[in-house]
Amino acid sequence: MTYFYHIPPSAAPIYLKDIHNSLRGLLYAEDYLQKFQRELEEYFQIRNAFLISSGRAALTIILRALFRIAADDSKNEVLIPAYTCYSVPASIIRAGLKVRLCDIDQNTLDFDYSLLPDTISERTLAVIPCSLFGIPSDIERLQNIIAGRKVFIIDDAAQAMGVSVNGRLAGTRGDIGLFSLDRGKNFTTVEGGIIVTNRVDIAEEVKKTLSSLDEYTKVSQFVILIKAIIISQILRPFLYWIAANFPGLGVGGTFYSTRFSLKSMSNTQAGLAWNWLEKLASFNLARKENTEYYYKEFAGFRAVRCMKGNPEAAYHRFPFFLNGIKNKEMNRLKLLGMSQRYPDSIDHIPELKFQNNNNYPVASSVSKKLLCLPTHIYFNKSSRQKLVQQLKKLGRN
Ligand SMILES: *Cc1c(COP(=O)(O)O)cnc(C)c1O
Repeated sequence: MTYFYHIPPSAAPIYLKDIHNSLRGLLYAEDYLQKFQRELEEYFQIRNAFLISSGRAALTIILRALFRIAADDSKNEVLIPAYTCYSVPASIIRAGLKVRLCDIDQNTLDFDYSLLPDTISERTLAVIPCSLFGIPSDIERLQNIIAGRKVFIIDDAAQAMGVSVNGRLAGTRGDIGLFSLDRGKNFTTVEGGIIVTNRVDIAEEVKKTLSSLDEYTKVSQFVILIKAIIISQILRPFLYWIAANFPGLGVGGTFYSTRFSLKSMSNTQAGLAWNWLEKLASFNLARKENTEYYYKEFAGFRAVRCMKGNPEAAYHRFPFFLNGIKNKEMNRLKLLGMSQRYPDSIDHIPELKFQNNNNYPVASSVSKKLLCLPTHIYFNKSSRQKLVQQLKKLGRN
């Protein structure tokens, strides 16, 4: 049965009704861009939301805007966790800035805040906490650490859209924030990104960049529509197996690349977001329920070590450690939805040419040991039970 069967490690469904609205968007039957933008501003209680082609593009635009506002050429370093999505350093390089790293805490996957003060300098333009897997970063602590210094906080909530922390939504807790609407994020428009900010000066700078961005051509919008149709079908285990084994589709892989386009979002993508509020709520409810289930199942089970996060949050994937798992078992469990990410710490990305690159031992060991379980809405209860039972059996051996 496990042959030709692969449960997606993360998934954000696209429904037939979404495709219909996307097509209407392509034909400009309705201004979905404006509708989406207004709904975002209302939901996040924020003055400005901007719609971009991807999370990477959003981050690049943010960084360029902040660099111009700082108006100091020596402030050209951006501080990020040494373990995060490869798109984060790629955006920094694309913006013409330098990547600086800080090691992480393996219990939260957030910065190791005890190391942070020594990592921030006069050259630091911005710090990017990443709320990995939807576990909210400790931005209040970060704010205390940088108090009095001219350092921007970029709240990267690419994996935490709709997650709230002490009554505040992830993405709105820094000077500026971003979300990703890529496949497999909290909900998807095939590709897409959002910038949110309350700061008037930053919004003005971002707006300047936006007016010079390329737009999607009709042909490339049509390609988005076709991809949306494929995604709407592919998330079933049998078809996902084909996709995961199809060379060139790059399903599930992590690559470092600075060659991405900087565009404003198209009306075809915004059409896919026509009822995003409802989708985000239902997808995140499933994530929350699965997160709670895993915490409960693994409580008191010593072989599985979970994060010190919030058991009530909606994790994008459920991260944990299990020692001594063998390759053969790993491959079998991957077909059941388990995943590993990211392949290495940021200092080991060859393109970034870090010199003395063993300074981030925790990030490096986490990248080798961390496992993730699915939390998405297509992951059903019987698959979930099966996966947890198999992990417990491995843990007992
Ligand atoms: C996915 C992701 C991004 C980039 O978003 P894309 O839309 O894929 O470009 C940035 N930061 C984090 C933490 C992410 O997970």
